[in-house]
Amino acid sequence: MLKDKTALVTGSTRGIGEATARALAAQGCNVMMNGFGDPDEIEAKRAQIEADSGATVRFHGADLSDEKQLDDLVDSAEAAFGGVDILVNNAVIRYFHTVDDFDRDNWRHALSVNVTAPFFLMQRVLPGMRKRGWGRLVNMASVLGMGARSGRADYVTSKTAIIGLTRAVAAETKEAPQITCNAICPGSVLTPNTEIKIGELAEAEGMDFEEAKAQYLLRRGQKTGYIDPAQIADLIAFLCQDSSKDITGTAIPIDRGRSATWLEGSDG
Ligand code: NAD
Repeated sequence: MLKDKTALVTGSTRGIGEATARALAAQGCNVMMNGFGDPDEIEAKRAQIEADSGATVRFHGADLSDEKQLDDLVDSAEAAFGGVDILVNNAVIRYFHTVDDFDRDNWRHALSVNVTAPFFLMQRVLPGMRKRGWGRLVNMASVLGMGARSGRADYVTSKTAIIGLTRAVAAETKEAPQITCNAICPGSVLTPNTEIKIGELAEAEGMDFEEAKAQYLLRRGQKTGYIDPAQIADLIAFLCQDSSKDITGTAIPIDRGRSATWLEGSDG
């Protein structure tokens, strides 16, 4: 259980972040949610998670590409809860361009949300974790932090960088017995964003949604089904337990063996 702990989960208005906010609150943890979306829908989710869990759940709509808003997010979490014990760097921006066509402002924007913001947020919450002698830092990477696909330069670079940053922070916290920093590398998870991409595939290739849903996975070499956001959230909750204190500096795949079997079928 995570009673009396506080978690800040970025990008928790939908998908994996929302599932994570739910899972941590279910363990008794107070949660600061963050992200974009329709204000009424966000408020309904916040209130529902709070009612279901009995934990206190707040929301702050900071745009993480803006340093002032990012600092205000941490200030608000600290003012509301007295400190941040668990930071889940989950928010993401994705552009889909080849290197040749990548707009420089989009590149800067992606790297600011996906890499710089997690760095600044960890920098902000670490002193409090050190003082209290307890902290969990969880960074959302991807199988694309361990390999590449065309048209995903911002994402591949961000997710590779966040794995490196995870190790760097783990190196600097390894003397603190109850502070850990880990990355999670999911394969394809069925989130609203994935559903949008499936819809685009269906439209581009004249398939119905179910056919495109199967094709989307097949083309990514993940043959046995989508991962549920709740499974990622459960892994994060597991990493936040006291008993997980010796797991640090890792990049944990949750991808149905996809990254372990990339060479299968090749002659290498
Ligand atoms: P999503 O696109 O559904 O949600 C992203 C969240 O980030 C939203 O809440 C959005 O509002 C928020 N966000 C975007 N820009 C922001 C900004 N500037 N400031 C604050 N919040 C911002 O994402 P998802 O599919 O649930 O993925 C969540 C995480 O898991 C990401 O880090 C992603 O890279 C990783 N991941 C997802 C998959 C997958 O298949 N969905 C696979 C591997 C890794």
